[in-house]
Amino acid sequence: MSASPLACPSCRQTMEQHHFACSTGSALVLDVCFACQGLWFDPQENTRLAPASVLALFTLLHERRGEASHPMAERLACPRCSQALARGYDMAQSGRYVTYRCAQRHGRFGTFGAFMVEKGFVRHLTSLEIETLAQRLGTIACTACGGTVDIRRDHACPWCRSALSLLDPQAVQQALSRYGQAAQGQAQRALQGDSPENLADALIALERSRMREERERQRQRLEGSDRFDLLSAGIELVWTWFRR
Ligand SMILES: [Zn+2]
Ligand SMILES: [Zn+2]
Ligand SMILES: [Zn+2]
Repeated sequence: MSASPLACPSCRQTMEQHHFACSTGSALVLDVCFACQGLWFDPQENTRLAPASVLALFTLLHERRGEASHPMAERLACPRCSQALARGYDMAQSGRYVTYRCAQRHGRFGTFGAFMVEKGFVRHLTSLEIETLAQRLGTIACTACGGTVDIRRDHACPWCRSALSLLDPQAVQQALSRYGQAAQGQAQRALQGDSPENLADALIALERSRMREERERQRQRLEGSDRFDLLSAGIELVWTWFRR
């Protein structure tokens, strides 16, 4: 548990502290940088998050989704010992994701996308969906690592070699039921029987409206912002479903 605020391993700004319930009932403080879309976990913190807290964190990420302002730095520093964090991979049921760990075991840093993969909120895109998206879009941001993927050419991420994954309501629903959470609304309805065209339409519409919102706010744009952000489109998709 973090007592005093920590510096973001990427941009070195002070991270925000947010309080969540732990599976044992006690409180847990997570350090979040919205500009970098990153989360710092002290050892074991991520596994101790109660299912309700995973949802609360998801809500927070949705609320603050417009604040991303810079790409991840080349060198990330541990907020406790300042040593460089080592990039590595972790496996979850829904795929690989990238984490940055301190060799001194002070904790690890990861993107919001990596957290979604870890919690099983994503599913792999089918090859038909990738083809359909490729006809409409050029490059997308990999959910697992944030790297740019040209989906007209690559059907897996060239940076982290993960399969292309999408945050979607059914995956979230399945993950929550794995966590023993009561069913969240009409999951069966969500996306069931939808064609790849419908999914592509829904994603593109959501991401376009998010980008409009972002322009209105006149925020500093993410570098290379012409690429399609699959993660934020997925967050919108799940959010729309939650609110039904
Ligand atoms: Zn940061
Ligand atoms: Zn350290
Ligand atoms: Zn990747």
